Amino acid sequence: MNRRLDLQVLGRRDTWDHVHAVVAGFGVSGYAAADALVQLGARVTVLDDRRTEGLQEQAAVLSVLGADIRLGPGSTTLLPAGTDLVVTSPGWSPRTPLLVQAASGGVPVWGEVELAWRLRGTDPAPWLCVTGSNGKTTTTQMLAAILRSAGLRSAAVGNVGTPVTQAVMDPEGHDVLAVELSSFQLHWTHSLSPQASVVLNVAADHLDWYDGSMEAYAADKARIYERTRIACVYNVADPLTERLVRAAEVVEGCRAIGFTLGAPTVGMVGVVEDLLVDRAFVTDRQASTAELGSVADVHPPVPHNVGNALAAAALARAHGVDQRAVRDGLRGFRLDAHRIAEVAHSDGVRWVDDSKATNTHAATASLLSYDPVVWIAGGLAKGAEFDAVVQATADRLRAVVLIGRDRGLIAAALLRHAPDVPVIEVSAGEDEGQAPTSDGESVMVRVVDAAAGVAREGDTVLLAPGCASQDMFTDYGARGDAFAVAVLAHTTGKSTG
Ligand code: ADP
Repeated sequence: MNRRLDLQVLGRRDTWDHVHAVVAGFGVSGYAAADALVQLGARVTVLDDRRTEGLQEQAAVLSVLGADIRLGPGSTTLLPAGTDLVVTSPGWSPRTPLLVQAASGGVPVWGEVELAWRLRGTDPAPWLCVTGSNGKTTTTQMLAAILRSAGLRSAAVGNVGTPVTQAVMDPEGHDVLAVELSSFQLHWTHSLSPQASVVLNVAADHLDWYDGSMEAYAADKARIYERTRIACVYNVADPLTERLVRAAEVVEGCRAIGFTLGAPTVGMVGVVEDLLVDRAFVTDRQASTAELGSVADVHPPVPHNVGNALAAAALARAHGVDQRAVRDGLRGFRLDAHRIAEVAHSDGVRWVDDSKATNTHAATASLLSYDPVVWIAGGLAKGAEFDAVVQATADRLRAVVLIGRDRGLIAAALLRHAPDVPVIEVSAGEDEGQAPTSDGESVMVRVVDAAAGVAREGDTVLLAPGCASQDMFTDYGARGDAFAVAVLAHTTGKSTG
């Protein structure tokens, strides 16, 4: 038997005991993939260069079930002999030696999402898929909320947290899945055929993974549209997303549906006055529209978030969800923590935590939601440039407070495009010739004091760093928490003092 060919047809009901699968990377999705493969009877080897306590605990569980788990430095150097399939962590670049060895040996490399797609079983739940540089998690969660309010058994899965394999193997089953996919996950996906799909926007991010190639990054995002069955949803304000739809090989009959913050033309969802309106999924598209709720049903109703809501609505409508369920799902939905979250309103100043704005595109959308604004920015730039964000928002900046390793890049862009905007740099010790402290909390206290010093009544102080956080914090959540603690200490300290 040709084992490689065999892999193409193996599914959930088959025996995988003749397959030697190597799971590369033992993160959340690697664990889920290994677990599923062990359940299917495959011979499973898991490789990861890390050996943390958490990984060792995971390893103990899967070892009992028969998986061979190799952790620690050097574990991922060599592809084990006789490997039939590699299921890779989405974070691994195709240049990783192990994956290069697989490619040169003709061994298929799948992501965990590809594995999940192949394990769906008979009469599977359709997938509604979301990607984009920003707004993926929010849109996926909004979509799941809409689907649930339509009475459907659904969940937000994928890059949002729960691995898709886990959802697919769940014996309870689902009617339809809302699936968030990163560009990395899409890179390792080969046969996915969504019922409907969207690329929310494409902006430079993660270009380090792509050797600086924006084309390669956009091409991976575009993979979401391949083989889509009912509707490819694109962002009218981001023409690249429409071009990606036009270039995709879709199932015959699949339609291109735009979402817009303006009035929708035929084949779009959009906004008319303060209503969310569907001119795509109504029977007489030329003459009639369907009302999907109002802008006030979206929380918060800032422009980019209304766009997210329209994209979610379009995917749900492609699945056949009725108007009322769209409205009710949106009405009951609230954003996850650290996404344009108001942490205090004191002395007429609003303090907003958008620590999740980890790239300049997100920071721009966030800044455009407030005016005037004191902007707190900086951290790890990941190769980004800051000219565009400063140019787009200069007229609303009251002042800027800068933190983090790459803050000099932002300071330079401000000097070029907004020389009159006051800039306060808060260092973590490195400028004074000391070793940089990693005490992000104390830096945040100084940041908040500095911002309070320049904010006037009616202003918003916005933490939208446009950068990753790991130079000073464990992650964006810790950065947002440190901000909230410092803001609350500052505002309550003042009102009692
Ligand atoms: P992702 O999962 O793509 O990282 P999130 O929904 O978690 O997206 O939002 C991340 C950040 O991106 C938010 O904090 C906000 O600053 C910004 N954002 C959300 N939606 C959009 C959008 N449609 N366009 C631009 N920026 C957005």
